[in-house]
Amino acid sequence: MTNNIIKLSKVSAILIGLITTTATYGNKVDPKLTEIWHPVPKKVQVTPIPSDAIPLLQQASDVEKYWQHTNGKPVNWIYENDRLTVKPKTGSIVTKQSFCDMQLHLEWRAPIVSERRKDAPLHANSGIKIQERYEVQILDTYNNKIYVNGQAGSIYKQAAPLVDALSPSGKWNTFDIIFRAPQFDNAGVLTKPAHITVLHNGVLIQDHFEIEGTTMYVGKAKYFNAHGCKPILLQDHNGEISFRNIWLREL
Ligand code: MG
Repeated sequence: MTNNIIKLSKVSAILIGLITTTATYGNKVDPKLTEIWHPVPKKVQVTPIPSDAIPLLQQASDVEKYWQHTNGKPVNWIYENDRLTVKPKTGSIVTKQSFCDMQLHLEWRAPIVSERRKDAPLHANSGIKIQERYEVQILDTYNNKIYVNGQAGSIYKQAAPLVDALSPSGKWNTFDIIFRAPQFDNAGVLTKPAHITVLHNGVLIQDHFEIEGTTMYVGKAKYFNAHGCKPILLQDHNGEISFRNIWLREL
């Protein structure tokens, strides 16, 4: 009796399915025509970080493994409490590896006033220079006004963030960045500018922005020279900014 009921409900389910399909697509179009089965997306485990990501800063040993100062010397910043903190005046650091298109995840924190040295500037300043050229601004601009194309999350001197999603000093920020590298032809002429999308604490702040060229402090940005893949640079800009949980997926 029970088996018969199960069989009957299976038949009803199939009939309902057929009726629904006919109602949705009509009799003339086979829905299979719009199905794609290959290639199958590669499986990625997502925790603790995506399984196809390069773990640029997950533990102390990653500092030496993946990073160095711009002059090639070992990193002289301070690693403690699971974070890497800029040691002012020791210089910026770069990845040993070069990258082109990427998805980059990075967490950063500006110090609270009591953690800063006495002569520290008002805004704790740093930055991520993608391909050593294109800067996403890191700056403690929480309740600290500055020109908007220089505040945290700006593409420095090119684009203000769409909204201000900054955490207060002492709290962590996340940046999730999608970067498409510029392209040049064989003669070194730019054929496609770089594009960047940034989520700040999960909020969209740069939406496929077309980068105008190498970041400039003064003057108009431009692509000064053709280049291939390049390292990521974290800036020593005289502020005690900390970093943790950096990973990168090559696209
Ligand atoms: Mg900066």
